[in-house]
Amino acid sequence: MHIDLHCHSTASDGALAPAAVVARAHARGVRVLALTDHDTLEGLGEARQAAAALPDMQLVSGIELSCTWGGATIHVLGYGFSAESPELLRAIEDLHHGRWARAEEIGRRLEAKGMPGAFVGARDVQMELGDSANAPARPHFAEFLVRAGHVADRGEAFRKWLGAGKIGDVKQHWPTLEQAVGTLRAAGAWISLAHPIQYDFTRSKRRKLLADFIRAGGHGLEVVNGLQPAEQTGTLAILAREFGLLVSAGSDFHAPTDWSELGMYRPIPEDLPLLAARLKLAANAAEHAGAPDVAVH
Ligand code: MN
Ligand code: MN
Ligand code: MN
Repeated sequence: MHIDLHCHSTASDGALAPAAVVARAHARGVRVLALTDHDTLEGLGEARQAAAALPDMQLVSGIELSCTWGGATIHVLGYGFSAESPELLRAIEDLHHGRWARAEEIGRRLEAKGMPGAFVGARDVQMELGDSANAPARPHFAEFLVRAGHVADRGEAFRKWLGAGKIGDVKQHWPTLEQAVGTLRAAGAWISLAHPIQYDFTRSKRRKLLADFIRAGGHGLEVVNGLQPAEQTGTLAILAREFGLLVSAGSDFHAPTDWSELGMYRPIPEDLPLLAARLKLAANAAEHAGAPDVAVH
C-alpha cells in the first residue's frame, strides 16, 4: 500500500531503528509513512532525515499515546502535529518520568525479596541492547533475574516475579482518554482511535467509547490494523459511518514477520472518508489519499 499510518521503531517497542523503518517502508512501495512509536517522539528526527533523503517519501509526524478509559488501557494515534507543542512535550515528559518511577519501584520490590541490584542490572541489560533514554521494562528485569541466577529462564521470571498480579507487576499511571485527546488537539493533531476491536469490550461499551472519544475531540477510527479479519473491518466501517468519523489504516508493524510488514494491511472500504486526505501532503500523495469532503467533529 502507498500509505502506512501505523508502525513502530526501536524508539519504542519495534525491532528496527527509525531510519531502517523508513528505508524498508520505501522499498516496499510506501510513499507516505507515519512513525507512531508509543508515547515518544524520540524516533521522529531520525525518521524525518531518512525520509528527506528519499525524493518521493513523505514522513507524517505520528505518535501512539496510551491512556485509560472505562478501566482499560486505550491507544490513540495522533498525526501531523507540531512536535514543538508544549502540551505534547509536557505530556510525554510526564509519561517518561512515570516509566522511570515504575522501573525504580520494580527494582525496590525485587531487592526487598532478596534480589539485590535489580534496577541497575535491568538497566545494564537494556543498555547492552541499545543506548536508550527510556526506563528499563519488565523484559529487561527478567533477563537480569536469569543472569543473576534467581530464576532458570525468562518465563519463570514472569511466572514468579513480573507477570500479572506478581510483585514486579507495577502499574504505569496513564492519562485519561480525555486528557490524551486534549493533548493531541492542543498540538494540532489529527486523532484516530487505534485498533478499536483489540479492547475487550462489549458492543455497547465500544459504542460508548466512540461517543466519549468524539466528545473529547477525536476525529477518526482505525478501521484497518494490519491483517485483522475482514469481518472486523466491516464492523468498524459501520461504526465509522454511523458516528461520522474519518478512517485511518496501517500495518502496526513492529518487526518483520510473516503476518506483519510495512505497508501491509487489508483494504479500506471505498466509501469511507480518509483521515490521510486531511494531512498536509504533497499534491500527488493527497490525490492517492482520495481527498473526500466530509464534516469532521
Ligand atoms: Mn507496540
Ligand atoms: Mn496499540
Ligand atoms: Mn501500535
